[in-house]
Amino acid sequence: MEYDKNNIFARILRKEIPANVVYEDDYALAFHDVNPKAPIHILVIPKGEFISFYDFMETASPGLVVGFSKAIHHVLHAFDLQEMGFRLLSNYGVHGGQEVPHYHVHIFGGRLLGRMLPEG
Ligand code: 5GP
Repeated sequence: MEYDKNNIFARILRKEIPANVVYEDDYALAFHDVNPKAPIHILVIPKGEFISFYDFMETASPGLVVGFSKAIHHVLHAFDLQEMGFRLLSNYGVHGGQEVPHYHVHIFGGRLLGRMLPEG
């Protein structure tokens, strides 16, 4: 599968379309999800052309993998999520239901999130 350079997150990275950005560094961009599922729902995306978690782990430099993880950590701190807790989630494939083909991690917080996954 080839990376779609015009996927919505690629366009956000190129600043062609707006996003409510909360953090940016050399490795990652973090912004509010347009359709939040919790009081805090932030998406963190790596800078580069990566379709999925698999693609990212197989092709990104070790420096980028670390830098991306640290960017998530930075956002968790910035939103003060350590005390009350949070959930990290990344969808992939048919069962995971990934919709946007640029690797991303969801950060959820700000309320009780319930146990793991909805039933059924
Ligand atoms: P996925 O199902 O791929 O893991 O999640 C994609 C997420 O991207 C969804 O939660 C959706 O609301 C969010 N999203 C889709 N388009 C946009 C957009 O244009 N801007 C922002 N900020 N979020 C988006």
